[in-house]
Amino acid sequence: MPGQNSHWWQYKSWNEIVDHAKECDIAIIPLGSIEQHGHHLPTGHDTLQLFPMLERIAEQTGAILMPCPWYGAHPHHHWNFPGTVPLSNDTCKAMIKDIVRGAAVAGFNKFILFFGHGQAFVTNYTVQDLGQEGFYVLSVMFQNSVRDVHDEIFETPFWHADEAETSIALSLFPEYTDMSKAVVEYATPLLSREFLTGPTQMTSSKPLRFDEGTVSAPEYKDLKIGVVGDPTLATKEKGDKYVDAIVERMVNLVNSIKKDYPAGVKIETN
Ligand SMILES: [Zn+2]
Repeated sequence: MPGQNSHWWQYKSWNEIVDHAKECDIAIIPLGSIEQHGHHLPTGHDTLQLFPMLERIAEQTGAILMPCPWYGAHPHHHWNFPGTVPLSNDTCKAMIKDIVRGAAVAGFNKFILFFGHGQAFVTNYTVQDLGQEGFYVLSVMFQNSVRDVHDEIFETPFWHADEAETSIALSLFPEYTDMSKAVVEYATPLLSREFLTGPTQMTSSKPLRFDEGTVSAPEYKDLKIGVVGDPTLATKEKGDKYVDAIVERMVNLVNSIKKDYPAGVKIETN
């Protein structure tokens, strides 16, 4: 049989996929991005990081892994930076909906969008549309699943091509990472940071999250290198710990769904 030992949908035959759904009907849909990550990291960073995490999650849960698009949606301030190839919000939304609808035909009933790139402003709206259609879909930006341990591992909050992202790269794909080119750089917010919560900062009394307004300057005008943070603080050990924590949280999440709603049980959302 073509791919019965793989966790990835694209290596299986259609009948293997249908059989898989009878055992476990949870499909994880990774969402990547192609985005500049400074001079020291590859543009595929946010996509490359997903594969090893997902294989560990699938190994421990039995969830199937959908093929991963290498492109994603981007906030307004990412556009026009060389090396970055954004999908428009409507394209990304339509793509996610079509992937869910297609996977459902084979018998999958529960879907988890999984990503580390800041595109929750699109996924959060998309899951509401899919809920109206009857699909049970969760949107997980992995940074949110480990916000409580972020500060135990890292000295700085999660922004971009920084301590955290570079540590992940040193842990998972050091062959594409060049620390000799890592430099410290910070972006210019268009609203005082006093009012802005970053991706890994626990909820505070600050009224706005970073993606709840056009609050960042266009990066192609604002940044010289493309870094927001301090990648020189990155280590493989920090990356290993962070990835372990993300995998553990996701395994717990998937197993909880399996326990509450066994394979074959469709969850009513409309
Ligand atoms: Zn990134």
